[in-house]
Amino acid sequence: MENNISNINDSSKEKSKNFIYEIIDEDLKTNKWNGKVHTRFPPEPNGYLHIGHAKSICLNYGIARDYTGKFNLRFDDTNPTKEDQEYVDSIIEDVKWLGGDFEDRIFYASDYFDKMYEWAVLLIKKGKAYVDDSDPETMRGLRGTVTEVGTESPNRNRSIEENLDLFNRMKNGEFKNGEKVLRAKIDMSSPNMLLRDPVMYRIIHSEHHRTGNKWCIYPTYDWAHGLEDSIEGITHSICTLEFEVHRPLYDWFLNELEIHHPQQIEFARLNLTYTVMSKRKLLELVEQKFVDGWDDPRMPTISAYRRRGYTPEAIQNFAEIIGVAKRDAITEVAVLEHAIREDLNKKSQRVMAVLDPLKVVITNYEGEEELEAVNNPEDAEMGHRKVPFSKEIYIEKSDFMENPPKGFHRLIPGGEVRLRYAYIIKCDDVIKNENGEVVQLNCSYDVETKSGTGTSTKKVKGTIHWVSVKEAVDCEVRLYDRLLTVEDPASEKDKDYKDLINPNSLEVVPNAKLEPFVKSAKPGDRYQFERQGYFCIDTKYTTKEKLVFNRTVTLKDTWAKTGGKK
Ligand code: ATP
Ligand code: MG
Repeated sequence: MENNISNINDSSKEKSKNFIYEIIDEDLKTNKWNGKVHTRFPPEPNGYLHIGHAKSICLNYGIARDYTGKFNLRFDDTNPTKEDQEYVDSIIEDVKWLGGDFEDRIFYASDYFDKMYEWAVLLIKKGKAYVDDSDPETMRGLRGTVTEVGTESPNRNRSIEENLDLFNRMKNGEFKNGEKVLRAKIDMSSPNMLLRDPVMYRIIHSEHHRTGNKWCIYPTYDWAHGLEDSIEGITHSICTLEFEVHRPLYDWFLNELEIHHPQQIEFARLNLTYTVMSKRKLLELVEQKFVDGWDDPRMPTISAYRRRGYTPEAIQNFAEIIGVAKRDAITEVAVLEHAIREDLNKKSQRVMAVLDPLKVVITNYEGEEELEAVNNPEDAEMGHRKVPFSKEIYIEKSDFMENPPKGFHRLIPGGEVRLRYAYIIKCDDVIKNENGEVVQLNCSYDVETKSGTGTSTKKVKGTIHWVSVKEAVDCEVRLYDRLLTVEDPASEKDKDYKDLINPNSLEVVPNAKLEPFVKSAKPGDRYQFERQGYFCIDTKYTTKEKLVFNRTVTLKDTWAKTGGKK
């Protein structure tokens, strides 16, 4: 595994220059682009962006930022059948949120359709493109294989005039889908199959989300992409490794047209353990309701991560940590979670929350008081808050055990435990219902053990969190686990990834209790629930009546085991 949690060096922000930076440094030295650096992120608006796209955005934007260059957002909207304005809107929002600053440079490949058409005509005139009537199946048959050369289409030697006429009529809608294509005339015996007269235009009678019914011929990726880069004056066209074999084609078109010719550079795409990443699969998960939308917090999309409470800074750090490689690999999802934890640890307001409440009555306590709690031990400037304490509190059911195993340092019958920011209590009585379930503990406290000011030197091994019953705020908490049950779904050759979905990826805790500090919170606010993890108020299900929290990521529980220090 390329990136695993054990070889991550905490907060090492030392920037290691990846091979793309080396290429750019060299270009600047030789003045190849007159000192310019211009990158782009070119999504097809056929789905929401995922964490792999985030890597690409961070890389492309990061380069523009580091070299004081420019970064474009460009929609590669060349296929009307799968694209939608909803996706365009979500992509803009996600790129902005992630910090990819494209300023006012949002472009659409569909705005270049006229120009692309003109260039296609130019190639026809040069004798470098022709209209083929072969149906897709015949064309496939004539293409040859890796070991056998292809066969030229009978239409390959049409006259330029005939090609110009047919291409014009293709554009004018005289033919049905699939009846004709425009192909580049390159080499049917090229060892690179992609150079065997690739298709440049196909007929698709479909309404486009931006150009409406103006066009019924649409450019293919290979034909369109270099032109888009060229029009925008891109210098470094960075894409994922699977496009390496397409590069000769990228170069061929630009050379034939003799227009601005960016350098295509490939890097390894991001794969994550326990995750499927292709938009096709993510769309399937949404459409078949395995999740409740593209932003379901179990999805690997940017919108899901945002809703779940991930921060843009943490995702940027993640992109930095994993770096850029030339070889495909799979990164542990734990590396991403580590980056999230590191960031949230520095930023998060701490509160106490009891997810599975057990009532505790402190029999010798009278009245009520407010205790001082630290807002964030990592950031003194975040100060303190008051937490109400009273005779009745909730503790976590799992913090009490009647028959504890060895090494259980929390509450047991007759045992003692420290209440975080409060007192040491002793469990005197265990109250059960008719089914024998523990429903209440009667405890006593020792006033001298008050956190911070108490004079007692008594020490206990465990410290637990709690919430005062009277002031407790009710909420629902949603706990997420991995969406898939296996590390590398792609390696399960004979299984559909849908059969690998974790049936317990969502657990809803209906009745959690929170300290009243969260009363003024708004959707999207993030907290650390002490000893539990990082949580964020859900933007979708939270209403005036009901607070809903998402668990962003679990916490490594350190302080509860450190001997009950305050
Ligand atoms: P998918 O294969 O996941 O459906 P895609 O490649 O079809 O995605 P595009 O909209 O074409 O999606 O991608 C936009 C940009 O994001 C491209 O430059 C592509 O190389 C890059 N990209 C897509 N997936 C990843 C990934 N997993 N890691 C890094 N970059 C990626
Ligand atoms: Mg694609």
